[in-house]
Amino acid sequence: MNSTELSAIRDSLLLQKSSILNKTNEFRQEQSNQVAVSDEAEAASVDLANNISIHLHERDRTSLYMIERALGRISDGTYGQCECCENEINFRRLLARPFATLCVECMEDQEDLRNSYHQ
Ligand SMILES: [Zn+2]
Repeated sequence: MNSTELSAIRDSLLLQKSSILNKTNEFRQEQSNQVAVSDEAEAASVDLANNISIHLHERDRTSLYMIERALGRISDGTYGQCECCENEINFRRLLARPFATLCVECMEDQEDLRNSYHQ
């Protein structure tokens, strides 16, 4: 993967992240309209942050975690590397599934394995 491809994926991850966080901000604004202003502003904001993570949809929380994980891998240079065989994962696959951690071959191997367990 070249740096242009990598930054395309990074941009799309950051976009997804900000769209989730925007949802959170909307939630925060709703909350602050409802909650009376506290003297202990700092403590309140910590509580609020906890509330936000509780109120985030499970799916969003998972996505946020996956995004952070992918961004971490981009910054430490291991992004796009198959966790199983360490080959480079196809860029088109990553573009479609930016959280993929396995190359197509390894994924198919795992699915075969899973299918054979269910037989
Ligand atoms: Zn692999």
